[in-house]
Amino acid sequence: MTLPPFGPPATVPAMSDDAKKSPPKDTAITNAGRPKSGATGYRGRDKEMVNTPVYRASTILYDSVEDLQFATKHKNRNFYYGRRGTPTQWSLRDAMVELDGGHDALLHPSGLAAITTALYAFCRAGDHILMPDTAYEPTRIFCNIALRKIGVETTFYDPLITAEGMESLMQENTSVVFVETPGSLTFEVSDLPAIARVAKKHGAKVLVDNTWGTPLFFRPLEHGADMVIHAATKYIVGHSDAMLGITVCNEASWDVFQRQSFVMGQAVAPDDAYLASRGLRTLAVRMRQHEENGLKVANWLAGRPEVDHVRHPALESFPGHDVWKRDFDGASGLFSIVLKEGYTDDNVTAMVDDLQLFGMGYSWGGFESLVLPADPTGERTAVPWDAPGPLIRFHIGLEDTDDLIADLDAGFERLGKEI
Ligand SMILES: *Cc1c(COP(=O)(O)O)cnc(C)c1O
Repeated sequence: MTLPPFGPPATVPAMSDDAKKSPPKDTAITNAGRPKSGATGYRGRDKEMVNTPVYRASTILYDSVEDLQFATKHKNRNFYYGRRGTPTQWSLRDAMVELDGGHDALLHPSGLAAITTALYAFCRAGDHILMPDTAYEPTRIFCNIALRKIGVETTFYDPLITAEGMESLMQENTSVVFVETPGSLTFEVSDLPAIARVAKKHGAKVLVDNTWGTPLFFRPLEHGADMVIHAATKYIVGHSDAMLGITVCNEASWDVFQRQSFVMGQAVAPDDAYLASRGLRTLAVRMRQHEENGLKVANWLAGRPEVDHVRHPALESFPGHDVWKRDFDGASGLFSIVLKEGYTDDNVTAMVDDLQLFGMGYSWGGFESLVLPADPTGERTAVPWDAPGPLIRFHIGLEDTDDLIADLDAGFERLGKEI
């Protein structure tokens, strides 16, 4: 029998418990997923590229019926058909399995596609799910429109909920507890271990959106999650030039999830997977710089007379700071501020419209700084948003913080007089 020429074994061995407990180090970020799947030969010469090349394929050709049958039986990370990927996608999956400490991983065309596929995989008509009130807005809309249509009911919960609070929300038919921590726009940090304990007791799956933390700063599978979801579009790609979602599963969730995901046609082009693999190699240095720069700017903002408070999990005064300190290994560069009472949206417009170094736009996680005026009011039902003034979200990039602060200083001049 002719075996496929490239590719690792059909299943990835589960990691040892010891390996799971150790946070990904720079060495792992540098090497994860590389040589295992990246080998390539040409005219019999076995050479390896540093990076797994971009293999583009729809049809894969087989030498024989036996070869075809083997491939059909062993579809996971073997040559089969382009939708199942090539070594380019497999190496990124390998890397993420290693960094998150999971059993296996899948790629999705966007972070949102990863979230909706995961939610859909683990609920059926008549089920109930729990979703944080601070979930990324399109996740919330998916629940309210698409899941409602198939008869799945969503309860939104306070992200600062305790185990007792969670217990009181669990129903007989609760199949999924979703966690996104810190929350979108407002950054409340949830007590994942407490939430997961309650969910497990009731047999519900725990899915965690870990886009803010990345595997470098937070590994939800170590805290009771069944699946981690990354909008890799953000820090993993890291350069604002590709869309990608990644899911990493524990062993118990893998089979159901991978069937569901493939049958829904979730596939990613090798070029985009390549960009994510390339971004991943510098994740650790970028994240540490985002953290340092973000904290410098956040602390400066906290001292401004116009600012009511800064919403950043690493600031001691912030709700959920203790949980962040216990469970996370660092903070990314994304946070927000709330202005004092009396400032209007027009004041904010005057401030942000003319910022020179902060681009205005959705998404974040690239190397560049961004600003986004945002109002969470319409997206909250469990904990109504009640802030003295307007909210502004910042993504702090890799520029010199002195330059960023000078730009913001000029922005505050335009914002208007201290109120
Ligand atoms: C951006 C984002 C997503 C969605 O990712 P896309 O790749 O833009 O679809 C999901 N969750 C969080 C927390 C995000 O910030």
